[in-house]
Formats: sequence, structure tokens, C-alpha cells
Amino acid sequence: MSEIILELANFSKSFRSHWTYAQKSAVIDVCLGVYRGEAFGYIGHNGAGKTTTIKCILGLIRASSGSIKFSGSEINAEQRKKIGYLPEQPYFYDHLSVRETLLFLGGLHGLRGPVLNERVDKTLAQVKLDHRANSPVRTLSKGLQQRLGFAQAIINDPELLILDEPFSGLDPIGRREIREEIIALNKTGTTIFMSSHILSDVEDVCDRVAIMARGRLKQVINIKEEHLSRPESVIITFAVDRLNPVFKESAVAAGALIVERAPYATIELSDIDSANNLLQTAIANNMNILDYSLKRPDLEEIFFRITEDGQ
Ligand code: ATP
Repeated sequence: MSEIILELANFSKSFRSHWTYAQKSAVIDVCLGVYRGEAFGYIGHNGAGKTTTIKCILGLIRASSGSIKFSGSEINAEQRKKIGYLPEQPYFYDHLSVRETLLFLGGLHGLRGPVLNERVDKTLAQVKLDHRANSPVRTLSKGLQQRLGFAQAIINDPELLILDEPFSGLDPIGRREIREEIIALNKTGTTIFMSSHILSDVEDVCDRVAIMARGRLKQVINIKEEHLSRPESVIITFAVDRLNPVFKESAVAAGALIVERAPYATIELSDIDSANNLLQTAIANNMNILDYSLKRPDLEEIFFRITEDGQ
């Protein structure tokens, strides 16, 4: 995973107000690179500049300054054919069937004849929509429509798949299906660039995540490194009304935070060695250990820490 497939260098975009003609910056001096084969998250509050960035990558609007490169050269129409795109709210002609929709959209990518038919069949199977191939789009649930959105985004077998809020409006089952679909596509080699407000899903799907705030890139987080990083604390939970007094004394001496709330008692320590010593004491005292967990900040906590500058 070393080649950079997508690179933004000092990329900025501003809009001019129709009323005052004043310039308003939507994205400011963003520099980042997405490796071929990775799943990259692009997160931020409402108005942080995510959709604006995506529109510029796709060539729907023009960057004000800086550059956007695809596989090392300035992005152009030919290279954009290697990109698939799922907009936040995909729009379909609802009187067309699922198959007709994909035949139509595949045709727009320049696919024709048997190649197009083959590609449509393969894509329908890939997103598990083949059983609804002949259903009119209007009869599909929101979750299945999102699957169709996926299908149209990958009909051209893209190298890079850009997903703008792929979980928006989905129930937990639909979210899980789409999450699994993204992971499956990524495993087959498709590079993913996705924006989402559902940070737990981003954490599950992505290798690295860029955090945007008010148009600026604040930080790029490597999720795996975060997951392997030193825990902030260790929490041990016991099934007891009250802690064994000998154990409690050792826990207090080790600086543990103790909460006794029947039928459980928990102790939390920031030092792993002390936690392991206490665990030995607990085992020696035949205490009923229910849970031992390492507490690390999740993406949501990291996001709030990085963006908590008054937004
Ligand atoms: P959301 O999560 O709400 O979709 P976002 O991070 O995608 O937000 P953008 O839609 O990129 O944010 O908007 C970034 C900023 O640019 C916002 O302040 C928005 O109002 C402004 N903006 C976006 N498009 C235009 C436009 N066509 N004209 C003027 N301002 C715009």
C-alpha cells in the first residue's frame, strides 16, 4: 500500500456570495494523500467542507487553488472514468427497473452490448440485488436503494470509490449491510474515500481518517495505530456488592478509582502493571471477575478532542 492514488496539495475552494460578492472559504489549503487499496475516511461537522472537496475531485465544481492528482498526474476527465461515486442522495428514475437503471447508467460510462449486460449482471450479484433485478426502483426500501446506489457507483469497476454519507437515512440493518458492502469492495482492491457522520462505522471501515474542521484539515488519524496504542486505563469489574477489604486496601494504595454499585464493583487504573498486580490479588482472593477491559479513546472521542475549539 504505497502508491498514492489520490492527492490533494494545497487544495482550496471558496464561493462568491451572489448577494455581497464576498468570497467565502469552504476548504482551505488541504494537503493529503490516499494510498491505493486503503479505506480513507473524511469526517467533520456540518459545513466542514467534505462535499465541496468531493465535488472538486469529481470535477463537478472547480478548485480555487492547489491541485488534485490521480495516480500522480493532475486529475482529468479520462482519469475520472476510473472513479465511482455514491452521492449523499442518489437520484433514480423510479419507473425504471433495477436492471434498466444499471443498463442506462452503465451506458453513460460508455459500456455497450454484451460487455454492458455482463457488467450489470456481475454488479447485481456483487451488491446482492439480483433477486430484485426486475423490480421498479420505486418498490425498493431505502436500504435497497442505497445498494442500487452502490451498484451504479461500481458499474464501471472503479479504482477509487467515493462515498458521500453512505449511511445517511439507513436503519441499523441497512447500515450494517452497507458497511459490509464497503468492506467487501475494499477487500477486492477498490480504494475507498468516504465521508460520514457515523463515526463508529467510519472506525470499523477505514484504515485512516482525515478530520476536517471549518474547511481546514486538522489531523489524519491511523485507526489501527490508535487501536494498538497504549490504553489510557484498565477497568476491572467484579460481581460483588462490596469489594473484599484486603483487595480494596491494595486498590486504594495503587491509586485506583473505585465504584461499588451493587451487584457490581469496578476499579479503574491508569497503570497497567498495577492493574495486573491487582488482578493477581483478586484471583488469589477468589473474587468473581466479570470483565477486564482496556480503555482507549474511540474515533468519536478523538474527533471531539481535535475539533473542540469552540465549534
Ligand atoms: P455536511 O456534512 O453538512 O454535508 P460538508 O462538510 O459536506 O457539510 P460542504 O457542503 O462542503 O460541507 O460546505 C462547506 C461550506 O461551503 C459551507 O459553509 C457551505 O455553506 C458552503 N458552500 C457549499 N456549497 C456552496 C455553494 N455552492 N455556494 C456557496 N457556499 C457553498
